[in-house]
Amino acid sequence: MNDAPAPAIDPDTVKGFLDPDEGRALAADAITLVSGGACVEIGSYCGKSSLYIGSALKAVGGRLFAVDHHRGSEENQPGWEYHDAELWDDEAGAMDTLPHLRRTLRRAGLEETVIPVVGRSAAIADVWRAPISFLFIDGGHTMEAALNDYRLWTPHIIPGGILAIHDVFPNPADGGRPPFEIYELAKASGLYEDLGLTKTLARLRRIGAV
Ligand code: SAH
Ligand code: MG
Repeated sequence: MNDAPAPAIDPDTVKGFLDPDEGRALAADAITLVSGGACVEIGSYCGKSSLYIGSALKAVGGRLFAVDHHRGSEENQPGWEYHDAELWDDEAGAMDTLPHLRRTLRRAGLEETVIPVVGRSAAIADVWRAPISFLFIDGGHTMEAALNDYRLWTPHIIPGGILAIHDVFPNPADGGRPPFEIYELAKASGLYEDLGLTKTLARLRRIGAV
């Protein structure tokens, strides 16, 4: 699990919400699956998770499609708990994390490996047709956003592929429910083998002949 290539730059120099153990688990999954289908991340923010996954994929010639509208989730908006005023674009009157993602990718030498796909997850899912071998859901945490990500993206996961979900809190006192709810849906679907939790990162493997 810890044999994936390390992040190309210090992850502490990138704003974001990912524990190093979670980052290493994502990197390890992504490299073992690179040949089977596309690797997709929903929710990149400034590129912390993209850095872990992308650094691992670069070593094996893989690519990561990094989906985000870059306007921030609810909890990133002004007045909310996870707002960061440095990510505010005055002219747009909105959050803009895209320049920060691009800067992370450039600094890490990952511009050819991580491909930002800028837009609403559901709008991109509408036209997405490629099989997916690795899907990391870390986008909006409203029930609507989490359910959309689960329902619109997971049907593309191929047998043997990994579904990873961030911010899963089995105890409601620790955090919001939607990521936990879609984890429960995935388990109840009978389509996945549950690989359990690494901190708040849930991992499941799609059942079926590889
Ligand atoms: N993976 C990142 C953290 C992601 S934070 C890290 O490692 O630090 C969640 C991100 O999801 C935010 O950047 C927000 O803009 C994005 N997001 C929220 N709802 C979205 C939606 N419906 N479509 C696309 N992106 C969305
Ligand atoms: Mg998260």
